[in-house]
Amino acid sequence: MSPCKTATKPLRPASGADRAPVLCPLCGRPLPVWAIPEASARGIWVKCKNPSCRKEIEIKL
Ligand SMILES: [Zn+2]
Repeated sequence: MSPCKTATKPLRPASGADRAPVLCPLCGRPLPVWAIPEASARGIWVKCKNPSCRKEIEIKL
């Protein structure tokens, strides 16, 4: 009867209005990642969408 799945990610944080796109440190293009000023991240990687960059960037906030 008890559900096994307990890890649910909040898709829409309440303070989403303050979020700003994270810029690629190599080409300056906004990555498909948004963060609030108080955010902290480690060990998260995202691929840059710039066709001439396409590097995988570690998000460090
Ligand atoms: Zn880039």
